[in-house]
Amino acid sequence: MKILVINTGSSSLKYQLFFMDTSEVLAAGLIEKIGESSSVITHRKHPYRTDGSKVSKEQAITGHKAAISIMIDLLTDKNTGVIETKKDITAIGHRVVHGGEAFHEPVVIDQDVIRAIQEHAPLAPLHNPANLIGIEACQESFPGIPQVAVFDTAFHQTIPPRAFHYAIEHELYEKYKVRRYGFHGTSHKYVAFQTAKFLNTTLDTLNLITIHLGNGSSMAAIQNGKCIDTSMGMTPLEGIVMGTRSGDIDPGILFFLANELKMNIAELDTLLNKKSGLKGLCGTNDMRDVLEKRKAKDPKASLAFDLYAYRIKKYIGAYFAALGKLDAIVFTGGIGENSSDIRKGACENLEALGISISDGLNQINNGQSRSIHSDDGKVKILVIPTNEELQIAKGTMEVIG
Ligand code: ADP
Repeated sequence: MKILVINTGSSSLKYQLFFMDTSEVLAAGLIEKIGESSSVITHRKHPYRTDGSKVSKEQAITGHKAAISIMIDLLTDKNTGVIETKKDITAIGHRVVHGGEAFHEPVVIDQDVIRAIQEHAPLAPLHNPANLIGIEACQESFPGIPQVAVFDTAFHQTIPPRAFHYAIEHELYEKYKVRRYGFHGTSHKYVAFQTAKFLNTTLDTLNLITIHLGNGSSMAAIQNGKCIDTSMGMTPLEGIVMGTRSGDIDPGILFFLANELKMNIAELDTLLNKKSGLKGLCGTNDMRDVLEKRKAKDPKASLAFDLYAYRIKKYIGAYFAALGKLDAIVFTGGIGENSSDIRKGACENLEALGISISDGLNQINNGQSRSIHSDDGKVKILVIPTNEELQIAKGTMEVIG
């Protein structure tokens, strides 16, 4: 069975074709700057094999339908391709950012699902409309091939009311669905399952704190395999510190900025989403640069690092309290998988809670799932590489049976 996973942005299209018997990625590609005069295409055949190959080219691509047609050519071409015809694809899984309260699981896309994704666009104005463009273009280009939507929010739909409500007028929830939804659900779900596999047990026996640290970052508290709380909120702005997003902030600061600096809604949006987080604190949103600058004793980078790690630690404490019993803390994402310093900073001085990181194990970076806790730690600390695309492919396969 071959499953194509599609992630559409407003001007980009990312794809991976999986052979599900072995979970191998047969081909992967990214088409960027769609609609601009010079779009950029990168396509890899057998990206994880030593005999893999890569093509990159630039050409004008007018829209997503044209981008999909180029993707099909690359996938079926005798040099760059891995399938004979597009009919060799069993199903297509689409990443959809916001499913609101309507979707708890992946679903086969029909007109009702499309309508629901449209209806949720106000909750994810940058993402859902773009995801829909990809879905509609694929429906036209792959007639008869099942299309499945896999939602970033779905895994968090088990969060109980006390954790998903905000303490504001109840009517705002009833009328406008203002509540916590959480994001990165596909990643949290994937690493939770991989953790159970790694520990040789089943997920329904485990209480976990999963920590996804990428450009966007979030944490989840998972009880007996079900998510009971997560750090992102109604939007991906809430929670721990991110590359360019502030994470938690006193809402009163917004009134202050509006009153004193006369900042309008659009400026506040840009400030908190694009100019804050690591970037706001020390001028760069890339953790590798923050770590370099910190090594060179840059005080702003040191503060950014400390604040970043401290916020994660606070959430570990909060989620430990919410869970009552904790089996493992799981780090994932570009930063979680690669930065031993951040992992150490986040877990430091938590020995009283049974959380103790091994300096030696924490330094090993082999790209594999691994344990990094010390022998005397009661709580396991793990690094589990995420793979959201594979989780989307698996979800798609499950739905189509
Ligand atoms: P995205 O959320 O866009 O998928 P990633 O999960 O790839 O992003 O994470 C990107 C972040 O990972 C960046 O801040 C980058 O600096 C960081 N990162 C990648 N490699 C390393 C590394 N070796 N050490 C520290 N941080 C790293």
